[in-house]
Amino acid sequence: MEGIVIKSTGSWYLVKTTDGQSLQCKIKGKFRLKGIKTTNPVAVGDKVEIDILADKSMGVIRSIAPRHNHIIRKSTNLSKVSHIIAANIDLALLIVTLKQPRITPGFIDRFLVNAEAYHINAAIVFNKTDIHNQEDHKRVIELCEIYENAGYPTFKVSALTGDQISTVREAIRDKVNLFSGPSGVGKSALVNAIEPGLKLKTGNISNYNDKGKHTTTFPEMHTLSFGGFVIDTPGIKEFGLVEFRKYEIAERFPEFRTFMHECRFNNCTHIHEPGCAVKEALEAGKIPVSRYNSYLRIINDEILDKEKWEWE
Ligand code: GDP
Ligand code: ZN
Repeated sequence: MEGIVIKSTGSWYLVKTTDGQSLQCKIKGKFRLKGIKTTNPVAVGDKVEIDILADKSMGVIRSIAPRHNHIIRKSTNLSKVSHIIAANIDLALLIVTLKQPRITPGFIDRFLVNAEAYHINAAIVFNKTDIHNQEDHKRVIELCEIYENAGYPTFKVSALTGDQISTVREAIRDKVNLFSGPSGVGKSALVNAIEPGLKLKTGNISNYNDKGKHTTTFPEMHTLSFGGFVIDTPGIKEFGLVEFRKYEIAERFPEFRTFMHECRFNNCTHIHEPGCAVKEALEAGKIPVSRYNSYLRIINDEILDKEKWEWE
């Protein structure tokens, strides 16, 4: 029998089997995964094979299918051991607002760089369009154009009025979705507008206490009535930065990729070198100034905030 892990407590798992049942499962034996040391071998989103006990009371996880991506957190800053929060995410939606609160393009770009690094498709949802004046309206259209051109779907919605919510619903149907965003942007309201009655823990729980220790909260996935899942991982409000090698950062900007291979130097940082195709594209208006500025800011950040969530 095959299924998908929809809840993980570390000692037992809830698996939704292909026939639609939810079954409590345990792990049998040890699973070793290539390349990572983890505290938990099985995570929410994992596709597993299970054996069902003769009395049908329980299942035993026999194998885990290879993951196409996963997000982790480190148990401590310097720890080599990671905890897998969720696996096989089809779409990470970043919920943002132009005002109340004001979210900057820099924040959006950092999120997208992380998503790129870990091979997770991302989309951006601009919420609270109901409070936009004409200027905001123009600004949001500009931003949407920038991100659409870079290959990211964008949505302009109001969780309050319900405007354009059905478009988001279509985009997340039949997928495993992760909703992220700073607090106050309306994640809870949005999820509730998409699926009335569904309440995520994301909005109001901080997963870190003052000393940076994790409180125990278990990730789970909620089934969407129209098909698909929403991953509910309390604490994922923002994405912390991953340690990047500098030369990799430009590759995380899709609109740079077409140009960067034409730079005169193959180790071009696209900052000061002569014959830089990225800077030429910037000057020709083919790369948006705000995206290039985010690139500079990320590359110049030497102190990476490692205490936050990390993606892998
Ligand atoms: P979260 O912290 O991201 O989960 O945000 P909440 O869902 O708790 O919403 C934060 C505040 O924004 C609440 O006061 C909501 O009523 C309000 N809010 C959420 N969505 C909208 C919207 O589309 N328009 C307006 N005007 N307010 C909204
Ligand atoms: Zn260059």
